[in-house]
Amino acid sequence: MSSEPSTESDASKSSKHFLEQWIEADHLAGRTGGKVVTRFPPEPNGYLHIGHAKAICVDFGMAEAFGGECHLRLDDTNPSKESDEFAQNIKEDIHWLGWDWGDGFYSAADMFDEMYEIAENLIRAGQAYVCFLSQDEWKKYRGIPTEPGTPSPTRDTSPEENLRLFREMRDGKYADGECCLRAKIDMASPNIHFRDPVIYRIHHVPHYHLGDKWCVYPMYDFAHPIEDALEGVTHSMCTLEFEVHRPLYDWVIDRLDEMGKLVVRNGVKIRPHQREFSRLNITYTVMSKRKLLELVEKKLVSGWDDPRMPTLCGMRRRGYPAEAVRTFCEGVGVTKYISTTDVSILEQCVRDVLNRTAPRRMAILNPVKLVIDNMPEDARYPCEAVNNPEDEAAGTRTLSFGRELWVERDDFMKDPPKKFFRLSVGREVRLKYACLFTCTHIVEDANGEVTEIHGTWDPASLGGNAPDGHAVRGTIHWVDAATAVSLPVRLYDRLFMTEAPDADPERDFKEFLNPDSAKEATAYCEPLLKDVAPGTAVQFERLGYFFSDPKDSRPGAPVFNRTSTLRDSWAKQQGKGGR
Ligand code: ATP
Ligand code: MG
Repeated sequence: MSSEPSTESDASKSSKHFLEQWIEADHLAGRTGGKVVTRFPPEPNGYLHIGHAKAICVDFGMAEAFGGECHLRLDDTNPSKESDEFAQNIKEDIHWLGWDWGDGFYSAADMFDEMYEIAENLIRAGQAYVCFLSQDEWKKYRGIPTEPGTPSPTRDTSPEENLRLFREMRDGKYADGECCLRAKIDMASPNIHFRDPVIYRIHHVPHYHLGDKWCVYPMYDFAHPIEDALEGVTHSMCTLEFEVHRPLYDWVIDRLDEMGKLVVRNGVKIRPHQREFSRLNITYTVMSKRKLLELVEKKLVSGWDDPRMPTLCGMRRRGYPAEAVRTFCEGVGVTKYISTTDVSILEQCVRDVLNRTAPRRMAILNPVKLVIDNMPEDARYPCEAVNNPEDEAAGTRTLSFGRELWVERDDFMKDPPKKFFRLSVGREVRLKYACLFTCTHIVEDANGEVTEIHGTWDPASLGGNAPDGHAVRGTIHWVDAATAVSLPVRLYDRLFMTEAPDADPERDFKEFLNPDSAKEATAYCEPLLKDVAPGTAVQFERLGYFFSDPKDSRPGAPVFNRTSTLRDSWAKQQGKGGR
């Protein structure tokens, strides 16, 4: 490994955000021992969501920019809600996003022995004590920032006595909450987190990895700096709410330094530092794990991977490409301002990728029959269709059509306004790739609902061009009725109807669920769509991007999820509503 700091990092190419500048300065000053090490520290108590994707892109992205490494660390210090299922999915989601931790996989639980020993060291040094105050008392004693707090009655117990008590805690002599271990720091500090914070608590709950080895567990503020230090992390980035905890983070690092626990790399003692950035918030969704869990548990969604969820597994199942999620995360940037990003920006990133990559196919969602009266019953005509106008390499395919087609009901109007260039009696349209068609009459049912659209074609227009070169304003898509396959589709929309479903503390966020966010429908499709493999993105021409559900599709029987419409239909609705 080169001890020469890299000055030509990718980071230097564009303007640098504050974390990049911070890391670069340390790296150039030689404080990283030649290697920037970051970490992404999820707790395996839920699935990752788009907010985590931002943290992942920052943590892994910064390590990559400086040629360093990013560890995946499961911050599994609270066993009550953690599971292996969550842990496995976290790994899968990070890989899906395109990042890899290499050999750098860690788990807090693997460090419990060491953390326990460090706690005993603190006790021996008179820097920690066992406290028997109840949680309510403890809060009352801690006080308010403007006045000094009250010391715990056991604050000055001898190290020998504390050691004995702490071991009794470890050995299961006490019930949950009966006592805890506190760091002895400063009961008068204006920073409330400095007033003898709890560093170990009793929790008689088995750990998903270690079983019932422990009934005492370290608190986040104690565990996190230890994990960082033992792994040789140089830069520990987290969200803004941890900013007030930073002095405590540094306090723990100082103690570890005194105990000789800091990693030495290339002769440099690695002292981890924490910095904070603002979390990602997005409109029309909730991002708190607790609320997402509630939606799952109350069966308001089909699971963590429901395609409407802001989870990475949900987005993946909906058909959001990983590239789009990454582009979005890079685009929102890294700042300390608390802000909310419009979900339409994410949706546009998705469309941009799919526009380039998704093959076009024909499908009809709201069908009405179209009959070409001057075509023989059994006639068949081939026509050539472009697979992706944005990608010549995608080539073409041959479709066939005959006398009867399915077209979209919306593409016909009985009394069209002047600027309606699609189907209406007496008007001519292009049936995309097939031919020109002139509507002569319609058949209606007793309710005035159109059941058939009739007309004639010009055989010389086969392929879709006017033989005399005259302009045809409207082009519509179609599916050949004789060969169409009907396939199930789910027309997903935003899960919530309002921009900030959890903004009002007086209202339950679940009140704002969008009742129309998962409509089931049947699409009449060109035959090729039947053989689409599970987990494939396609564009249904003029309708939107669809993704064959990876879970529910079977060979020869795909189920399509609507990933997104082709345009932002919400912007239009809002415009109309005069909001
Ligand atoms: P909870 O505190 O409820 O467990 P969490 O979202 O903080 O939820 P973690 O698993 O602790 O869950 O998060 C792992 C990392 O992801 C943390 O570093 C956290 O700061 C970051 N993170 C979580 N949510 C967001 C968000 N919305 N935007 C950016 N980073 C986030
Ligand atoms: Mg957290």
